[in-house]
Amino acid sequence: MARVVVLGAGIAGHTAALHLRRLLAPGHEVVVVSPNSQWNWIPSNIWVGVGRMAAADVTFPLAPVYQRQGIDFRQARAVAIHPEGSGEDPTPQVEVESTAPDSAGTRSRITYDYLINATGPRLNFAATPGLGPTGHSLSVCTYGHAEEAARAFAEVLARLERGERQTLVIGMGHGLCTCEGAAFEYTFNVEHELRVRGLRDRAEVVYLTNEAELGDFGVGGMFFQQQGFITSSRLWTESLFTERGVRPILGAHVQRVEPGRIHYETLDGTEAVQPFDFAMLLPPFRGAELQAFDRAGHDISATLFAPSGFMKVDAAYGAKPYDEWRAEDWPRTYQSPAYPNLFAVGIAFAPPHPISRPRTSVRGTPIAPAPPRTGMPSGVMGRTVAQNLAGMIQRGEAGPRRHASMAEMGAACIASAGAGMRSGTAAAMTMFPVVPDYQRYPRFGRDVGDTYGEIGLAAHWLKHILHHVFIYKAKARLGWALLPE
Ligand SMILES: Cc1cc2nc3c(=O)[nH]c(=O)nc-3n(C[C@H](O)[C@H](O)[C@H](O)COP(=O)(O)OP(=O)(O)OC[C@H]3O[C@@H](n4cnc5c(N)ncnc54)[C@H](O)[C@@H]3O)c2cc1C
Repeated sequence: MARVVVLGAGIAGHTAALHLRRLLAPGHEVVVVSPNSQWNWIPSNIWVGVGRMAAADVTFPLAPVYQRQGIDFRQARAVAIHPEGSGEDPTPQVEVESTAPDSAGTRSRITYDYLINATGPRLNFAATPGLGPTGHSLSVCTYGHAEEAARAFAEVLARLERGERQTLVIGMGHGLCTCEGAAFEYTFNVEHELRVRGLRDRAEVVYLTNEAELGDFGVGGMFFQQQGFITSSRLWTESLFTERGVRPILGAHVQRVEPGRIHYETLDGTEAVQPFDFAMLLPPFRGAELQAFDRAGHDISATLFAPSGFMKVDAAYGAKPYDEWRAEDWPRTYQSPAYPNLFAVGIAFAPPHPISRPRTSVRGTPIAPAPPRTGMPSGVMGRTVAQNLAGMIQRGEAGPRRHASMAEMGAACIASAGAGMRSGTAAAMTMFPVVPDYQRYPRFGRDVGDTYGEIGLAAHWLKHILHHVFIYKAKARLGWALLPE
């Protein structure tokens, strides 16, 4: 009988664990290790951050779901992987540190036959001095951060109501951030809330981003076919910014954040200061702080992980010029080349290269979005690895057979641009594939027929419905496995 340990209960890990439990016969064990007792539908943190939803609307306790499903849940943080075991015991093990209230800080080891690393991002606020909730800016990356942002936003609204002018800056807190879509969503939700309250004219809204042009979203932008014409995400996004009066600062690296002042540099080498009354700036991401040791206790972290802390999988990590990168460089099975019983999915795997063109400022500062790994691909990777492990464990398959390359899969994303059942809007986007493939689609790198964008009220309804659908699914309610990732 096999034991599969899943590190992380986010979109990728939770999806993998639920599918594993569904696919594996009862004698096999599925263990989930995650430091937070709650599951969080992160995309809706945007609505928590403007006060439209409470944290309780975007979270639920994991333990009852896992108990009902027969999954062993350990509320703990993984700290080290011992893929060869240690000392006398060659059984692979993971060292964890409890975060449960009654045993916090206690370390123990869990042995495994297969390990899935789905630890997502470490929010690297430390990369920029003064960035983040312990510094001088806000975040919506966790539901706790989003609640704090909502409180600060309520104060801004109060000041505007008193007739004061306010500057709100939203965007990326470092030149190498990812997740531009989330900053875009928060910008337009904030702008929408100001407008529906009649306070917009006293507020300046600034979008500060490391993207060289609007509509890049970390995927190098998109071309859509719309009503027989080809249009770009740049054109589409620029018109939204013009229509809503949001001022973009493009190609920017935030050097430091001081109270009320953001110091930044742009691609042309200009150094400037942006004053603010309210700033929500996302941090760059790193991999979780996991270490790895061989059986003799030697540190093999550099073998398992890229310098970014993300785990190396079946990708081509060799250095080469941007134009020589190929779709086939992207991982397909998420299996570690070093240890075949080790996998990394979602944000936890190390991407082989950026999707947006890498750029450096004239001062030599790298300023370009890191590759996003959004919810849908993260869920698909989690499910695919679960299916592969079920095949290997129960049907004797020699290795992973099913593939989930981001260069072979499409993704759908609905970016909220303001909540409200009658006044809301959202931008619905699909693209195929996520990672452009210029060998297959020489002109635009993607299939323009399957790449699509539309903005309107209907997309907001869809986003709202999906909020409920994905929480229903994550609670493993009746028929959950039929719902797509
Ligand atoms: C504000 C915001 C809005 C977003 N909106 C969208 C959207 O609209 N659409 C979309 O597709 N994507 C969106 N995303 C991206 C989406 O949230 C991510 O793609 C997705 O969460 C990635 O899934 P994951 O499982 O890799 O990571 P996560 O969902 O972050 O899960 C990581 C898990 O690992 C756990 N963990 C961390 N460290 C350890 C450790 N040491 N040991 C064990 N467990 C650990 C965490 O507690 C968590 O449970 C948004 C992201 C943000 C920040």
